[in-house]
Amino acid sequence: MSSYVVGFPRIGEKRELKFALEKFWSGKESFDTVTQVASQLKKRHWNYQKEAGVDLISVNDFSLYDNMLDLAVMLGAIPERFRGLENEELYFAMARGNKDAVAMEMTKWFNTNYHYIVPELTLNDTYKLNATKLINEYKEAKEQGINAKINIIGPITFLALSKRVDRGDTFELLSKILPIYEELLSEIAKLDEKVVIQIDEPYFVKDLEAKELSLIKPTYDKLASVSENLKILVATYFEHSNEANKILVKTPITGLILDFIHGIDNTESLEAIAQSGKKLIAGVVDGRNIWINDILKSVDLLEDIAKVVDKDKLCTGTSCSLLHTPFTLEYEEKLDANVKSWLSYAKEKLQEVEIIETIFRDGKDALNEAQKDILENNIEANKTRKTADIIHDKAVQDRVNSNFAKEREDKFEDRIEVQHKTFNYPTLPTTTIGSFPQTPEVRKARREFKKGEISKEEYENAMKKYIDDCVAFQEEADIDVLVHGEPERNDMVEYFGEQLKGFAFSQNGWVQSYGSRCVKPPVIYGDVSRPKAMTVDWITYAQSKTDRVMKGMLTGPVTILNWSFVRDDIERSDVSKQIALAIADEVSDLQDAGIKMIQVDEAAFKEGYPLRESKIATYEEWAVRDFKICVAPAKADTQIHTHMCYSEFNDIIRTIEAMDADVISIETARSGNELLKIFAKIGYKQEVGPGVYDIHSPRVPSKEEIVEQINKLLEVLPAKQLWINPDCGLKTRKWEEVKPSLINMVEAVKEVRSKL
Ligand code: GLN
Ligand code: ZN
Repeated sequence: MSSYVVGFPRIGEKRELKFALEKFWSGKESFDTVTQVASQLKKRHWNYQKEAGVDLISVNDFSLYDNMLDLAVMLGAIPERFRGLENEELYFAMARGNKDAVAMEMTKWFNTNYHYIVPELTLNDTYKLNATKLINEYKEAKEQGINAKINIIGPITFLALSKRVDRGDTFELLSKILPIYEELLSEIAKLDEKVVIQIDEPYFVKDLEAKELSLIKPTYDKLASVSENLKILVATYFEHSNEANKILVKTPITGLILDFIHGIDNTESLEAIAQSGKKLIAGVVDGRNIWINDILKSVDLLEDIAKVVDKDKLCTGTSCSLLHTPFTLEYEEKLDANVKSWLSYAKEKLQEVEIIETIFRDGKDALNEAQKDILENNIEANKTRKTADIIHDKAVQDRVNSNFAKEREDKFEDRIEVQHKTFNYPTLPTTTIGSFPQTPEVRKARREFKKGEISKEEYENAMKKYIDDCVAFQEEADIDVLVHGEPERNDMVEYFGEQLKGFAFSQNGWVQSYGSRCVKPPVIYGDVSRPKAMTVDWITYAQSKTDRVMKGMLTGPVTILNWSFVRDDIERSDVSKQIALAIADEVSDLQDAGIKMIQVDEAAFKEGYPLRESKIATYEEWAVRDFKICVAPAKADTQIHTHMCYSEFNDIIRTIEAMDADVISIETARSGNELLKIFAKIGYKQEVGPGVYDIHSPRVPSKEEIVEQINKLLEVLPAKQLWINPDCGLKTRKWEEVKPSLINMVEAVKEVRSKL
């Protein structure tokens, strides 16, 4: 075994799977078409790897929707509401719901932007193996002459990421799940004389409790002794897994696959691995990013590892599955040539792995001519990356190192008094989170303008028309603090990225987000600055249409980072600081233009949290630092709002408080007032807008319902501290839903106010 790839993306380099699925779902194509497209894609992806020289190629990394869902189906973990369904009908009903049953929940896969389906388990479940998909895929690969290994998610990670519908601890089900895994493994053992199984246990990179750690040895003792025919490799990624590594080496598994990019601390386990004589696949090619590898540096790293672990036991791998990177640079025709020379997508990463492995094993002379060229380009590109003008902007660096304002001048207690005098807003002021429905007409105008099919003037008029209507509606509904509705924004990160220096946009850099849904994250390649104002014209236009207060609307640095591919040649926190200064410029310009309330969204603040507790303090420090930098220009009478898209604040409430926003709106509508209690408990001083209705559903909440919700909020926080708003932006909703909902919201507030 030499070069190793943990997994490959599956949606297709032209998103073939997405389109096939969506046609099937809308009834335009049969399921056979989906199966055919899937087979073609598998074949193509296997061959890409084979051609690149990868020795062992993953099967079962493919999925029509999600691997956790596949696993739940394979184990027979089918929630009751789907029982009676079969095959694709069952599978897609679990993923997407059907007319009788709501879909299963979906959530983020560790700290990535990939979402998995959360399995639902109960103590009464009976599990039953259904390995057809996996076995067929293995046979399919074999028939095509592919040297296949089988990927599955391990039992401990499966349970850790599942939820118990009947409450209780999912690990209680290990004794039921493990026999199914054993059965699966013995089925696999029948397939061939030797089969390599990669068991993914990314949960091992978290800070596991002693109880959880104690499950590892018995589990892997069992799995690794199912059959002599099996070679088990346990994979972890996104961080180090030292605690688990040291246990795993004492079980009869064959080896470990570890991340040496995001989990460089794994070097601590090398001694133990060496002593155990286990194989080690060292992930040195980043599967989370799109930057070229520094090939010679990776070879050095492997050589360092080889000082401890026997070279024969060691091989080169990717840091995790390449699922999180786009397919190939082939179709990138418009990217700046320099920027492109610094990029490497999944297909290009295959070559990197192979070249690193070859140099490490046999020296540079062992490379073929094509590989030698790639190496030469790689050395050159890494060199230009260190000095290129489009990356390194002295003005930005001077500014970052200068003495700029780090926080607002006035204390909250003083500011809020000034603000209440300035705005004189009523008790329980009403507002919204920023966006209003993105109508087909708005999308069309944006698209046509981008393609040059309509003039700038036509485009601006279309946007202004939308803003006019949006303002008129809000006035009519009698909302206190207005927004312009964000019609000019396709996406809250892309909109800013397109206007900031240091960002690039790919044509085909799609990565799967969930199911058939893909995103094309902006690429932050260089020092970030703001050439000119980004939102001032739109917001001042909107303000000119009303006497009420118009909120300016910006996206904060952590959210921009989390939803982009971020350069890896400087610290993430340094990129964040540069973005913060650019946003600060915008805050300052908005304020100068007479905008008195400014919201800086940090929708992804919590997603950015590190997987390891020991790293949280550092993250919080720079994340808070940069939010404060963004809003530092705001005078006492400029009110700063922020918004966060989640509700569980218990463990981070002090950090939220330290951000020092005047008002925060949050997503608590689905929890009554339960999740708000932490604000009261710690004596949170700033104002809070807990969402009073759930925008994720098309349902229109009644006035009575909202009254009840507001009263619940009042049980926890005093009226003077509360704002009333929906729980997130309204862009995914329809006007028919939004209008009555907001009208009911305002009516509800008026009723509550009259009784205060
Ligand atoms: N201001 C943004 C909007 O309303 C916030 C979106 C979000 O929280 N994800 O769309
Ligand atoms: Zn939100």
